[in-house]
Amino acid sequence: MTDTTYILRIENIKKAFGKNEVLKGVSLDVKKGETICFIGPSGTGKSTLLRCINQLTIPDSGKIFLNDEEVTHAGPRINYFRQKIGMVFQNFFLFDHLTAVRNVEIALLKVKKMDPKEAREKAMFELKQVGMADWADHYPAELSGGQAQRVSIARALAMDPDIMLFDEPTSALDPELTREVLEVMKKLAVEGMTMLVVTHEMGFACSVASKICFMEHGHIKEQGTPAELLNNPKFERCKAFIGEFR
Ligand code: ADP
Ligand code: MG
Repeated sequence: MTDTTYILRIENIKKAFGKNEVLKGVSLDVKKGETICFIGPSGTGKSTLLRCINQLTIPDSGKIFLNDEEVTHAGPRINYFRQKIGMVFQNFFLFDHLTAVRNVEIALLKVKKMDPKEAREKAMFELKQVGMADWADHYPAELSGGQAQRVSIARALAMDPDIMLFDEPTSALDPELTREVLEVMKKLAVEGMTMLVVTHEMGFACSVASKICFMEHGHIKEQGTPAELLNNPKFERCKAFIGEFR
């Protein structure tokens, strides 16, 4: 395990829920700075795959490596890996009783045991990165969905992750709010963050992704650059899927 070109390696991950085989052997290598978008019909294992990466779901078999360290079977070290793997969900999961800045700094204080002044500075820096510094003292209920999602991105960034996972981050948002979140994600990608993004936003996937993976029935059925997938998809289903969302 000495190849350091890949920040994340996924080797033959399988996961079943009862008789439902959701991931049937998924492998993928991710280089530092890549943005990989996962597309495909619902129920094909996209969320399960992201959840396996930070062990929110434990795969039945297969291995996952972050910077050549095995994440699967990490035991108590899983908390270390979870700090290195930021995750953003469709429904934000902010603490309602905490202001935006408190939401961002809470893990810095409790998990990283950072000095309060330093944590506040770091939290404000990250809020600024997502254009939310002016809203630091507002509660989630006072924020639009797009603003709340940007705060949850800032919260993930505050842990200085090696990689960010986004699971349909804009699916709960109307188009205008979707745009402001995608802008933030695009900026992260341009700045060199490594990102895995499950999305139906083909415009984003085509303009930002280094690679698009089309998932179906628990497999990555097809993968390639946006141009390859858009102009020359091998599978009829992939072509139809892209067509539907463009
Ligand atoms: P996608 O994100 O592509 O829509 P998911 O990974 O969420 O797909 O789900 C794939 C399949 O796994 C679905 O059939 C879903 O019902 C099932 N599934 C996901 N999580 C669980 C779970 N915790 N328990 C049982 N079944 C699950
Ligand atoms: Mg999903």
